[in-house]
Amino acid sequence: MKIIAGNWKMNPQTLEEVRKLFFKIKKGIKKYSNILQNVRIIICPPFVYLPLLLNWSRKLKISFGAQNVFWEEKGAFTGEISPKMLKDLKVEYVILGHSERRRYFGETDENVNKKLKSVFKFKLKPILCIGETKRERKEGKTFRVLKREISLAVRGIKILERSKIIVAYEPIWAIGTGNPCDPETAKKVLIFLRKILKKNKILYGGSVNSENARDYINVGFDGLLIGGASLRPKEFIQIIRDCSI
Ligand code: PEP
Repeated sequence: MKIIAGNWKMNPQTLEEVRKLFFKIKKGIKKYSNILQNVRIIICPPFVYLPLLLNWSRKLKISFGAQNVFWEEKGAFTGEISPKMLKDLKVEYVILGHSERRRYFGETDENVNKKLKSVFKFKLKPILCIGETKRERKEGKTFRVLKREISLAVRGIKILERSKIIVAYEPIWAIGTGNPCDPETAKKVLIFLRKILKKNKILYGGSVNSENARDYINVGFDGLLIGGASLRPKEFIQIIRDCSI
């Protein structure tokens, strides 16, 4: 079963746009429902749209994820969302450690570790993002960086739970740039990651579109984490169809 996750980031901006976007995706999923048996579709919208989308998607073969979560269960943490709140809404997945959160909100590997523990406590399914900067790649540090991010993220987490983490390899220089990591280079990283993450599902993310999506599946990735292209319904459905074969 391939995993196709759409990260809507901070989009769309209005309820009307959310409705339009979601119903186009829904139409596509219904149209091709027979060939979508091999794909798990996960949409990760901004928090505020989750209840509405969960309501609109009843009976539809689609799952939802949050783009972030706080590690505390409850308390005076203005502006934060707890894993318990997500679980209660019937959200299944949570993206953790996305590079935009690390970059703009100072999220550290230690923060990601606390979030992972909390997410497991509430039986949510984490999608852990890891990836190197352009500079780290140039300096030959890619594998070292990925190994560090993984080992700090899983510190103190039981082996059985570790294997349930969906890991998204997202080279930072490829995210939202239109400059994807070419599939052969990504394959080398995948081979490295497989040695550390024997049982985990491993996704690729970074400027995926309908032209290149299948290439990442062909080199062995278990699925894709898609930003920009997940906001273009036709393209998103095309990617899902390409990966379902
Ligand atoms: C992302 O937001 O995780 C991502 C991979 O974005 P994009 O597909 O736009 O590069």
